[in-house]
Amino acid sequence: MAQTVEELVEGLERGERRALARLLTLVEDGAERLREVVATLYPRTGNARVIGITGSPGVGKSTLTNAIATALRAADRSVAILAVDPSSPFSGGALLGDRVRMQGHHADPNVFIRSMASRGHLGGLSFASPQAVLVLDAAGFDDVIVETVGVGQSEVEVAATADTTVVALAPGMGDGIQAAKAGILEVADVFVINKADATGAGKLESELRGMLEMGHALEDPDTSGVSPWWPPIVRTVAVRGEGLDEVVAAFGAHADWLADSGRGARRRRDRALHLIREIALEQVRLRFARIDAGDDPLLDKLADQVARRDLDPYAAADELLEALDGG
Ligand code: GDP
Repeated sequence: MAQTVEELVEGLERGERRALARLLTLVEDGAERLREVVATLYPRTGNARVIGITGSPGVGKSTLTNAIATALRAADRSVAILAVDPSSPFSGGALLGDRVRMQGHHADPNVFIRSMASRGHLGGLSFASPQAVLVLDAAGFDDVIVETVGVGQSEVEVAATADTTVVALAPGMGDGIQAAKAGILEVADVFVINKADATGAGKLESELRGMLEMGHALEDPDTSGVSPWWPPIVRTVAVRGEGLDEVVAAFGAHADWLADSGRGARRRRDRALHLIREIALEQVRLRFARIDAGDDPLLDKLADQVARRDLDPYAAADELLEALDGG
């Protein structure tokens, strides 16, 4: 028999993996009960440190995330990893990925790994992943790592709603600094140059440094009295577990800066804003999706008017939105 949301959340608090997995599936499916899930969970959240990791495919994100989890476990922190893949519409295929990711962690109850795709809802992963983070936060993990492929704006946004955002780069991919084009350099709190064992790592690092210095020079002087954060650049060889202590140390330093500067509170507020907006957009999308079924007299009337050129489509959309507001 289906468990109630209350039962699932109680299971979550007792550390039951099955309850955790079930709740994440509700998020992934955009289930009707999601509203109740989030309302029940929300007071229990706000304790996890959220770390976003993004970068182009092939830079070694999965390997790096795995190695970071190992380093965090060595520091006695529990870790949940949410691997968000915007390119795969179904999570079925992600199961294999999860098994690969679990290497070295499968016997550890303090590591949880889940791949996520957007299935049952319209807002995509920028809707689902912040809510999945809430579930993992409520489950009591010290660190929640959100790993995204930095290919599009929404993925970058997902990463950027973290407390600390890592941008991973790697030499020899014809990629390097061009990642800047996707706007992912701007969101970095920590840069990782992975595959530091490969040729070109030094060149990539100096290019990146040059670019960051240019960026700093162009910035307006900060008059807020808060000392700015200069994103450190850490070199790693994720496959050999090298450089990971420095990455974890950079997380700690950034967390301290967030607390001391007050920027942490601002980020949390940004995250709340993002979440509200995504939920509101999803509600609107759902209402339109229903209307789209063809049973709405107003939409039919507007369609006739627009088709006859009696009304322009923007004016029609305004009218529809107004009706939604009232309804
Ligand atoms: P993702 O697509 O960014 O998640 O990248 P993966 O983690 O799947 O790694 C892509 C490839 O790079 C794999 O063959 C890894 O074994 C390899 N790789 C990852 N980290 C390193 C590293 O530090 N050095 C080298 N030489 N190869 C690495």
